[in-house]
This record gives sequence, C-alpha cells and structure tokens, in this order.
Amino acid sequence: MSIRLENVSYKYEENTKEKNYALKNIKLEIKKGEFVGIAGHTGSGKSTLIQHLNGLLKPSGGKVLYNERDIFEPGFPLRELRGKVGVCFQYPEYQLFEVTVLDDVCFGPMNFGKTREEAEVISRQALLDVGIEENIFHKSPFELSGGQRRRVAIAGILAMEPEYFVLDEPTAGLDPAGRDQILNLLKKLHQKKGMAILLVSHSMEDVADCADRVIVMNHGEVMYDGDKREVFSHKKELEAIGLSVPFYRSLAEELRERGFMIKEDVLTLEETKEAIMDVIRKKRDNA
Ligand code: ADP
Ligand code: MG
Repeated sequence: MSIRLENVSYKYEENTKEKNYALKNIKLEIKKGEFVGIAGHTGSGKSTLIQHLNGLLKPSGGKVLYNERDIFEPGFPLRELRGKVGVCFQYPEYQLFEVTVLDDVCFGPMNFGKTREEAEVISRQALLDVGIEENIFHKSPFELSGGQRRRVAIAGILAMEPEYFVLDEPTAGLDPAGRDQILNLLKKLHQKKGMAILLVSHSMEDVADCADRVIVMNHGEVMYDGDKREVFSHKKELEAIGLSVPFYRSLAEELRERGFMIKEDVLTLEETKEAIMDVIRKKRDNA
C-alpha cells in the first residue's frame, strides 16, 4: 500500500524551457503509516509535489501510482483518491465558507456520500480531536481566532478519514501553543490511527520532532530522502542551500567542539538532555 512517484516532472506552463520545470524526475514512495517531513527552501517544489499526490496536478512526465495503479489511467477513481489522500493547503483557514463550524467540517464527508447524521458524528469527533470544543461548533468560522480557524480547516480534512494526510506548512504563523497543538495532533493521528502523515515545513525543529523520514527538495529535485538522523548529518550541504539543521543538532556539535563529547546525532531537547546525562554518568563512573 503506497503512493509512488515514478520519474515525475512538472512544468506550470507548456512550451517553456527546460529550466522552468518545477519538478524534475522525482522518484519516491510513501508507504501507508509513514510519518514523512518535507523540507526545502521557498520555490524548491514542495507545494507542487504534494499536489501530485492526489492528482490535483497531472505530471508533465512520469507517473503517480496509488497502490501501484496509475492515477491518470482511464477509469481510475480520482474522486475517491481525493478522500484517501487529504491535502491541507497553506493557510487553509481562508477556505472556510459555511455558516457554522460544524457545517463546514461536515461538507467534506457529505460530499463523499455520507448522510448529514453520519457526517455529524465524524465531524464532531474530528473537531474534538483538533481541540475545538462543543460550544464552538455552532459559531460562525469568522468569529474564531486564527489558530482555531486553522484547526477547524484541518478537522474538515480529517473528517474525510484519509489514509494519507498531507499538510503544507500547517504551523506557519501560529504561536508556540498553536504549533504544539497541531504537531501533537499529527503525532497522535500517526500513532493511534496509523495514519500516514506528510508534513511540509520550513521548520527543521518541527520535522525533527515528528517525522521519521525526511525528504529535502532543492530546485525541483529530491536532494535527500532518508532517515531523519542520516539526512540531518549533512549539515554543511543543507546550510549551503539555505536550510539549517535542528537547533539541538547544532548545539551538540558546539559542545563537542568544546570537548564535551555528547553523541552528535541528537535532534530534540529530550535526546540532548539524555545525551548530556550519559556523559556526566560516564565521567562519574570513571572518576
Ligand atoms: P515551494 O512550495 O517549495 O515554495 P512551489 O512548488 O510553490 O515551491 O514552486 C516551485 C516552482 O514552481 C517555483 O519556481 C515557483 O515559482 C513555480 N510555481 C509555483 N506555482 C506556480 C504557478 N501557479 N504558476 C507558475 N509557476 C509556479
Ligand atoms: Mg509552498
């Protein structure tokens, strides 16, 4: 069970030159249940890439396969695919349009054939999952804060019960509490429901915190694709294309340069604390 891109290229306008490809020869496979972070500077092709996963964009060259079936072959149920691969665009809150929060979230499941009653059951749960409480369900989306609106929009996709949940910069512009709420939700969906998550983010901390695998895009190509620890070991190469490595990774390197030899592949605060404690314990045991 997977989504696989086979030599996918994409050009926004036909008849333009070679260098205008937004995607060049992308080969990758996302398996069911994975948590993948997608990083890359602005214009590197991240948003173009994710719009191929549910067939919103059609490759100029190559194929997109869902469970090994070409999604653009005649008779492929593209509409159904859009329910299985839920894509949440940047600033999704601007796309809320229904009269109430609950109506808005019900729109997706009803559009995919659920009755209003069924849609409500799923939508209420989706809203609770994103941390929107009952007393807000009947408000207008326009009465909510920015962070709440973002979470309502995310609930709208969740309510379609996708197998793959793809989010384009879902924490952009949120305060730290709003960011944690969304990242914790994604971790929970991944762990408890086995949902595959694809998180596009410019924040290496977010990616390091949540994902297992990291894909780095550069000029329309996949520059790295692998285990996050391996990918973040390419500090110099990442910095050369304007990306950073997670803060704790840099901190570990600085500590090592100063002779405090903690292991270098830490990525999070928790791991760094543990690594520092290890060094202290060893020093104590040797004393
Ligand atoms: P990212 O999401 O990583 O910032 P994009 O996928 O948005 O990158 O953009 C990849 C390339 O495609 C960029 O060169 C961008 O200018 C171009 N591009 C993106 N959207 C369009 C569009 N609608 N029309 C023409 N070119 C576009
Ligand atoms: Mg983008």
